[in-house]
Amino acid sequence: MNRKNFLKLSSLGFSSLALPSFTKAGQKPIVIATWDSGMAVNAAAWEILAANGRSLDAVEAGALKIEDTIDCCVGLGGYPDRDGIVTLDACIMDEHANCGAVAGLEQIKHPISVARKVMEKTPHIMLVGNGAQQFAVENGFPKVSSTLSPEATAAYKEWLVKSEYKPILNIENKKQNNGPFAPNFFDDGSANHDTMGLLALDMAGNLSGAVTTSGMAFKIHGRVGDSSIIGAGLFVDNEVGAATSSGVGEEVIRICGTHLVVEFMRQGLSPELACKKAIERIVKKDPEKAKSLQVGFLAINKKGVYGAYSIQKGFVFSVKSGHENRVHASKYLVSV
Ligand code: ASP
Repeated sequence: MNRKNFLKLSSLGFSSLALPSFTKAGQKPIVIATWDSGMAVNAAAWEILAANGRSLDAVEAGALKIEDTIDCCVGLGGYPDRDGIVTLDACIMDEHANCGAVAGLEQIKHPISVARKVMEKTPHIMLVGNGAQQFAVENGFPKVSSTLSPEATAAYKEWLVKSEYKPILNIENKKQNNGPFAPNFFDDGSANHDTMGLLALDMAGNLSGAVTTSGMAFKIHGRVGDSSIIGAGLFVDNEVGAATSSGVGEEVIRICGTHLVVEFMRQGLSPELACKKAIERIVKKDPEKAKSLQVGFLAINKKGVYGAYSIQKGFVFSVKSGHENRVHASKYLVSV
C-alpha cells in the first residue's frame, strides 16, 4: 500500500491499519520502519530475522530493497537537488556501536552497503561526496548513469518553474503548502521527503538500524540532512534501544534527535514518550515555525516495545513481527 491509499483509507475512518496504542508488550524478533513504504522493507528484513539472522543483516536487506525501487525519496530514482543531481545519504549502526555512513554520494545504487563497508573496512565513520564515491568504486560498487527517473524529471521540471529555495516545509496531507517544495505535493498525496529508517531487534536480542535517503528534494547541492548522521537520523544503544527519524533534517540535527530519544528511553521512558519528548524539544524552540514543519521519530527499546511521535499529522510507520504486519499512524503534537 502506498501513502496515497493509506491516506485515503485513513480519511474514510478505516481503522484496521492502526492500533489505538502501540506501547504494548515487546516482541522479538521485530523490525519497524518509517512510512508505509516500510511494509516492503520490513518484508525483506523479516526473511533474515525469521531465520534467526542478525539484525544488522536484516536492516541492510530492508534498505537494499527500497534502494532497488523507484521512490521519491530514496535511492537513485529519488528527486534531485536544485542542480538536478541525485545525491544519497545513508548510515548503519549495530549492537556494538559500530557505525558507518556516506553523504552526498552520487551514481552509486546502494549507499547503505557502502555505509556498511565504511563501517567494516575503514577506521572511519563517514565518507562524503567524491571520496565516498571513490571508496565505493574501489570496493566493487559500479558507478551508474546519472539519469533522473521519469518521476523525478517531472517533479524537477515543475520545481524549476519557481526554483524557490527556502528551508521550511512540509506537512503531509496538505496539498496547499506554502513552502519551497510545494510543487512536490502532488494530488496523489505524495510528499518530497520520505526517508527510509529501519530498526530491528533479532532473536538474540540485538538491535541494529539503517537509514537511506536522497534527502530533501531540491536541496542546495552539498546539503546533508540528518539521515546519515549518527545521533541525528539514527542511533542504536544495545543496552537501551534504537531510534530513527524522518522529516526536516535540520531540525533533527539541531537537537541530536535520535540520540536524545535513546537517552530518554535510558531514563525509563517508553519509546512513544521518548519520541514525544524529542518532538516537544523541537516545537518548543520555535512553536510558530513548527506549524510548517514535519519531523517524525520512531523508536524501539530492548524489549521490542516500539513507539513513534511526529510534529504534524501524517507520519506513519510499518511494523513486522511474528504477531503483526501493519502500518500505524503516529501520534502528533501540533494540530494546524
Ligand atoms: N530527513 C531527510 C533529510 O532531511 C528528509 C526525509 O525525511 O526524507 O534529508
